Parts: sequence; C-alpha cells; structure tokens
Amino acid sequence: MKKAEGLYRPVKPKLYGFPAVAPIRLGMHCRGQHDFNFIRASRAPLSLVEIKPEKFQGKQKLFFFQNGEFRPHVENLGTLVAQTREMALDVQFHFPIQELEGIGLNPGLRDDHLAIVSLFLAIAEANEQFNFLPNVTIHPPTLMWRDKRFIHPLDAGRALENNRRLLEKLGNTAGGRKKWPIRIGIENQADPTIDSHGLGYLPLHIRGLLVGTPNWVQATVDSGHRNLSGRLSVTQIVEMLADMGKWIINFHFHENEGQVTHTADDDLHRLPLGEHIHGYLNYLNRAVQEGIPIILEVNTRDYNPVQFMVVSCGIRYLMEKIKEENLAAIKAGKSYT
Ligand SMILES: [Zn+2]
Repeated sequence: MKKAEGLYRPVKPKLYGFPAVAPIRLGMHCRGQHDFNFIRASRAPLSLVEIKPEKFQGKQKLFFFQNGEFRPHVENLGTLVAQTREMALDVQFHFPIQELEGIGLNPGLRDDHLAIVSLFLAIAEANEQFNFLPNVTIHPPTLMWRDKRFIHPLDAGRALENNRRLLEKLGNTAGGRKKWPIRIGIENQADPTIDSHGLGYLPLHIRGLLVGTPNWVQATVDSGHRNLSGRLSVTQIVEMLADMGKWIINFHFHENEGQVTHTADDDLHRLPLGEHIHGYLNYLNRAVQEGIPIILEVNTRDYNPVQFMVVSCGIRYLMEKIKEENLAAIKAGKSYT
C-alpha cells in the first residue's frame, strides 16, 4: 500500500453532535437490474444503494425526457422502492447527466440549463415522494460537445462560469420551495484522456466548482478518479474544502491501476482492496467520524457475488472497529483522532 495521505483533518466536525456516533453507511452503486440481482445474491452488509438512472433504460427508465423537460417515472420508481425496501436499503442517486437519455446534457453549456433544472426538479419530486436520501452526486462540466468534439481546454473557465450560473439558477428555483430535498455532491474527475475531458481534476476546478455555492452543494470524493489525476490529491481537496467552508458528503470507493492505456478505460472500477488507494484507512476513518457514506463503485461484471461480499464484509468490519476505537478513546477521555 502506498503512503497514506494526510486526509484526517476534520472539515465539518460534529455533524451529528457527536462525531463518533454517526451511523456507519456502506453502499454500492447500482447500474440496472443486473447490479440489483448481484447485490441481492451477495448478501453483502450494505445499508444503501446509489442508483445511476442513465443505466436504467427502455422499459425500466426511472426518469424520462419529454417536451423539453425531465419527469420522474413514478411507476418504475415505485418498483425500485419495493425492491430496495425488501432488502432494507436506502436509495440515493448519482447523475452523470452528460449520459442521461442519450441527450448529452452538459452543465458547462448554457443552452442545456433549462433541461438540467427540470431534471433536478424531477429528482426533488422523486426524493420527496419516495423518501430517497438527499445526496445526489453529479459530474462537473465536460469539455466536449454533444457530437463528441472537444472544445478547447482554455474554455474551462467559461464552462466553470456556466456551471456557477446553473447552480445560481437552480438556487432561485430551490429558494422558492418550502423544502429542497437535494444535496448535490460534485465529484472529482480523472485527468483528461483522448476520449474524455471532465473538469474536476485540478485544484482550480474544485475551487471554481464550489466556491460561494450554497450549503446544498458539497463534494463527492472518488478514490479511483484520484488515482488517475496527477495534480489533485485528496489532501488538497480536503484543505480547499475546509478553506471554502465545504465538506465531503460521499465517498466513491474503488480502485484501478493508474494510467495504463491513457483512455477512459483506465477507470477500471475494481474492488477496493487497497493496493491502489492512497490513505485507504483515512477514507474509512473520515467516513466513520463524519457519517459520510462509503459507496462501492465496483464493476459487477468483473466479480462474483461472493468476492464482493467478502470485501464488503472486510470494509464494514474495519469501519465498525474504527467506530469502537473512537468511542473507547472518547470514554477514556482521549481525543479519538
Ligand atoms: Zn464515482
């Protein structure tokens, strides 16, 4: 295992009044019925699933686009809820909106903002109706048009400015409502490759994406993307967040072998065994201390359910051990850090 990064400085301590008693939350992403079946078969000790709606296609669509706006598919969401209740799993969403419905929406393009705002209203409606968790992870703008032509990297500034305007527009909409059941986590990204260029791989992107945003906009930190970004460490992210009064609301936990092919395929989404995750225990420490869910983003087609169960049991065991140790340290009057 590589040297641990100094990830342990609290960003927003005492979220639950007493950090060490925050609930342990271990989840798995879900990219369609295949993943659901895999999770069920594994009997892994999970408490939530993070649904990627763009992978629920055709008759299983959870959100659909009609007459220029998104709507929740209430019937299919109801079916999803029945399945998750049966497995005692909470639900939250991950929307790489660039991929949804094959439309290629991009928060970096102002022309797309109306449709994206309608998507968030549809998510808000679904979250309220079905009691989903408020966390919604999104990707930053991509420097790519719909037809896959790249816009010049120098346009990053414009894309970030447009992202800021989108959040402002969304804020105006959210502000008019009694309750806004959404907490956005903007996710760090891998370095650009020949076939992908999402912003969020440089410190200046993280700052540009989050500075001055309201409290319902925070950060999602992805361990696999971190391993594919040469100029942005988790320590840097944590320090910048503290500086901006922001915090982490989600960890995406998985690993890869670093840059091998220099394409988007390097993001392998393997089981997080620790060989390629800097500061592995620091992620778990922080997750336990601050009640941040660890979402396993593992490609289920590469494993069998038993392999997945064994690793998730190990992670859960570590989290419970950390929590016990924290509580014992507090009882003994010591700092748990
Ligand atoms: Zn992720």
